[in-house]
Amino acid sequence: MSATKPLPPETVNELVQGLNRLAYNLWWTWDQGAQDVFAQLSPRGWQNLFHNAVAILREVSDYELRVRLQDPDFAAQVRQVLEAFDAYMKPASTWAGKHAPEFARRPVAYFCAEFGLHECLPIAAGGLGVLAGDHLKSASDLGLGLVGVSLFYREGYFQQAIDANNWQTEYYSLLNPRHLPIEPVLDPKGEPITVTVRIAMSLARVRAWRVNVGRVTLYLLDTDLPENEAFISDLTRRVYGGDSSVRIMQEILLGVGGVRMLRALGIVPSVFHMNEGHSAFLTLELLREKLAAGRTFEQAIQETRQECVFTTHTPVEAGHDRFSRDLLCYAGHLFLEELRLDPDKLMALGRVHPDNPNEPFCMTVLALKMSRAANAVSELHGRVTRHMWHALYPDVPVDKVPIGHITNGVHLMGWMKGTLRSYWRRKLAEHHHHWDAYINSPEFWNRILDPSFISDEELWALRYKLRRELIEFTRRRLLLQQHHVTQSDFITFDHLLNPDALTIGFARRFATYKRAPLIFQRFDDIVRLARDKARPVQFIFAGKAHPRDDEGKRFIQHIIHLSKYSELKGHLVFIENYDIHVARQMVSGCDVWLNTPRRPLEASGTSGMKALCHGCLNLSIMDGWWREAYDGTNGFAIGPDAHPDSVEEQDRVDAENLYRVLSEEVIPLFYQRDAQGIPRQWIQRIRRSMATVPRFTTDRMVKEYVERYYRQAPQAGSKPSSKAGT
Ligand SMILES: *Cc1c(COP(=O)(O)O)cnc(C)c1O
Repeated sequence: MSATKPLPPETVNELVQGLNRLAYNLWWTWDQGAQDVFAQLSPRGWQNLFHNAVAILREVSDYELRVRLQDPDFAAQVRQVLEAFDAYMKPASTWAGKHAPEFARRPVAYFCAEFGLHECLPIAAGGLGVLAGDHLKSASDLGLGLVGVSLFYREGYFQQAIDANNWQTEYYSLLNPRHLPIEPVLDPKGEPITVTVRIAMSLARVRAWRVNVGRVTLYLLDTDLPENEAFISDLTRRVYGGDSSVRIMQEILLGVGGVRMLRALGIVPSVFHMNEGHSAFLTLELLREKLAAGRTFEQAIQETRQECVFTTHTPVEAGHDRFSRDLLCYAGHLFLEELRLDPDKLMALGRVHPDNPNEPFCMTVLALKMSRAANAVSELHGRVTRHMWHALYPDVPVDKVPIGHITNGVHLMGWMKGTLRSYWRRKLAEHHHHWDAYINSPEFWNRILDPSFISDEELWALRYKLRRELIEFTRRRLLLQQHHVTQSDFITFDHLLNPDALTIGFARRFATYKRAPLIFQRFDDIVRLARDKARPVQFIFAGKAHPRDDEGKRFIQHIIHLSKYSELKGHLVFIENYDIHVARQMVSGCDVWLNTPRRPLEASGTSGMKALCHGCLNLSIMDGWWREAYDGTNGFAIGPDAHPDSVEEQDRVDAENLYRVLSEEVIPLFYQRDAQGIPRQWIQRIRRSMATVPRFTTDRMVKEYVERYYRQAPQAGSKPSSKAGT
């Protein structure tokens, strides 16, 4: 064999530049080939630096990179990935190109206080942010004109550690923009583009960072500038950081600053989508612009409503921001002067009963009053939300309250574990050049019902591989969680958990309505099930409680305590510092995904949707998305599609039902093996569960938003009765 010719310097330059371009586009987070390239450059760095392509390019010197590119296999791989990237960025046709071309010139402006795009950019607190991140990724896949707007929290969301008393403690680490896939937004002279917002008695100067999410751009506002007062620059320190005064100022910054930044960038949105009420102050900025242009108050309100749509995300009262008149007047004082709006008139916009002086200002009310259309995030949540806000629309019966629903989804390629992405790519290679588009289609997922396409044995082998990966991941994490590790611990940790046992996962925010400890209510019975030698069961838990939620922290303490000191030791573990990466490991490796919210408080829930494509079966209360997904064959239901009135009764009944379905259905089915050792019926459920995938993707969801909410087709229906303060 003759030597390969060395790559000429210009080719090396091209590949180096290509890798830099690639690192600064989060497309790599949902492309396996791209991730493999960065992982190969520094396997340990990849693992330790939150799988961050930019950080890898800082870790590996330019010199090393150029040397490494002389490896012909590696260079070929890089070239292939860059070709795929270029093809993605300049597609011949897209869904939106055909069905929604109008947004190319005038995009959707999608506002959210948090975005969960990837573990290397930890600026989300939970499901809301992850949903927003998935919305951007699917908008990109569909070719939809859309820009995201949020804040750049330089300390992100907190990291969780567990102290000697098993109590959650929080710590923050400073994110270094140079090591993140974000770029400063500069003018042609290389100066940061800035806008100003009046907050309290100060003038805040605001710059922005650009995050490339495939073909979509997310702008993150940042007040960390030397000319800002300390309390202003601290507004972009932490996700939902501080008290309600920080909160309202963050929200003024997001809403008002966000609109001004879009204007400064010359972006003319056709519609403003407020994803949750945090960004609703954007409507006041739109109002101000129209008043300044000479519109009457009524005209300005009408025109603003025509531009805005709103999605509400929770029936939990505390999830709706409310501010006192004093706080609003203090934080919004100077902005109100610009707006030239009397404080009472403003208060009226945020009240159900405009004249009630005791009613605080509610961001959800503002968003509802100032939008042409509003929606909840599942069918049941729609019903609950129409009840919740009926008083705003007293002229119509409750079922005519103009709040619809679009059920949430997940970005399939972003959530599918690398193991599976590679598997399907190989399997579909001959059939489909565009296998990633094909994989979003019902047609593909229906094929999994056919054993001649994929056999029981093949599916079972995949399940074993995914469970093995999770267990090894968990062993590594639990070893790292130990404060004092001795040599013998390594041996213990390598035997932690049983790779053959039915593995049940629970991971999400530890909000108390999600009832993480519910399954341990019938403790002795659960111990008996778990320790059955012939049919063992094990549990993996993870999740963060809000820093000020002591009850959520008690839930964590209770579960860790059980894992260390009860008869469940060895059958129950708690993985610390839950994030998107831990989520991906868990939803893919567990056999069963447990979801026990207090119905109807889980507006949708999305983590169970991430489980579907991995063959992890849902075991869930009939709440949120699961009532729409469950058909008796594709997972397991805990109790009926209803709930008792009393909370105590509900907890008791749900714990009973959970124990029953676990002991009578889930465990027997998992361990019912035929002569070949295969659990045929379990695998049949997996097939049915996988066939459910396409209904719960953000691909489907974003298309629905386009067709039912983003298009200029104002919904017929009543507007909020309170006459906007006139
Ligand atoms: C998916 C996801 C959530 C949402 O989980 P739910 O079950 O809907 O509460 C929260 N946090 C992270 C990190 C996630 O990936």
